[in-house]
Amino acid sequence: MKKNLVLIVLAMAAAFAAEAQEKVLNLYSARHYQTDERLYENFTKQTGIKINRIDGKEDELMERIRNEGANSPADVFITVDAARLANAEALGLFAPVKSKLLESRIPAHLHTDSWFAFSTRARVIIYNRSAVKAEDVATYESLADPKLKGKLCSRSGSHPYNLSLVASLIAHDGEAKTEEWARGVVANFARAPKGGDTDQIKSVALGECGVAVSNTYYLARLIRSDKVDERRMMERVGIVWPNQANRGTHINISGAGVVKTSKNVDAAVKFLEYLASDEAQRYFADGNNEWPVVASVVTGNPALEAMGKFKADTLPIGSLAKNVVAAQKLLDRAGYR
Ligand code: FE
Repeated sequence: MKKNLVLIVLAMAAAFAAEAQEKVLNLYSARHYQTDERLYENFTKQTGIKINRIDGKEDELMERIRNEGANSPADVFITVDAARLANAEALGLFAPVKSKLLESRIPAHLHTDSWFAFSTRARVIIYNRSAVKAEDVATYESLADPKLKGKLCSRSGSHPYNLSLVASLIAHDGEAKTEEWARGVVANFARAPKGGDTDQIKSVALGECGVAVSNTYYLARLIRSDKVDERRMMERVGIVWPNQANRGTHINISGAGVVKTSKNVDAAVKFLEYLASDEAQRYFADGNNEWPVVASVVTGNPALEAMGKFKADTLPIGSLAKNVVAAQKLLDRAGYR
């Protein structure tokens, strides 16, 4: 009898241990950066919580969470671009998060009640040093200047990075002025929009385009490249921090929120808090060339340092989404495909 009891207790202890070991956080991720692997492994090391990552495109993942409804295994949704996160919030996918730690570490303009930015990237103007002068492209507004006729290259106007930028222009300059701007930009195109940010950088370096916009981490990646020709290429490309004399440069973010139907809220919040830790913040900076959102974090990324300091636009990041539909419509009207 006694022996049986011991066996039962042992069996129960084993079951408990198995459960503790199997604590899993389901992370729906639309961030596709190789360096993120280490970021997640480190969380498991610290907390014992495994991360089961479900990768996909942001729209597919959001659709999936909606279709799974109350049964969704999703605990955290992580993606890039403020407008996408705001869209997820508008669809009711997130639960509000109360965390003193997150609120103290992440500036107010970089989170809402239900999602938090963990890194920032700036959308800067780049130019070919022998074709364009920096002072002629000091602002986003200047991209519509007829002086740049035939010189401007762009990725699609519909890409979220451009939509968020145009949404910020609407917030600052108003819709009518921004539409006029978009027409001026289209009139300056060297070619129809195509490719991603890296394609624009390469075209600027080759002189096929005089000027373009790009997110900073693509620039940093090429500045830090182990290929000599990529580093050389960057010597021909100048970088301008737009709008330093007024509101500052438009920034975008990567961020995450806790999924409303999560059965694992404690672990989910713990994960968000981990992303705001000094260690995780340094992964964003040193691994993926993004800026930490936590001001006190010291990073060691020579490419970010080489790009220098700048004044960032402090428009609340959660407010960009309300102008995104208007942005898309005015770009369509202006023929910015
Ligand atoms: Fe990107």
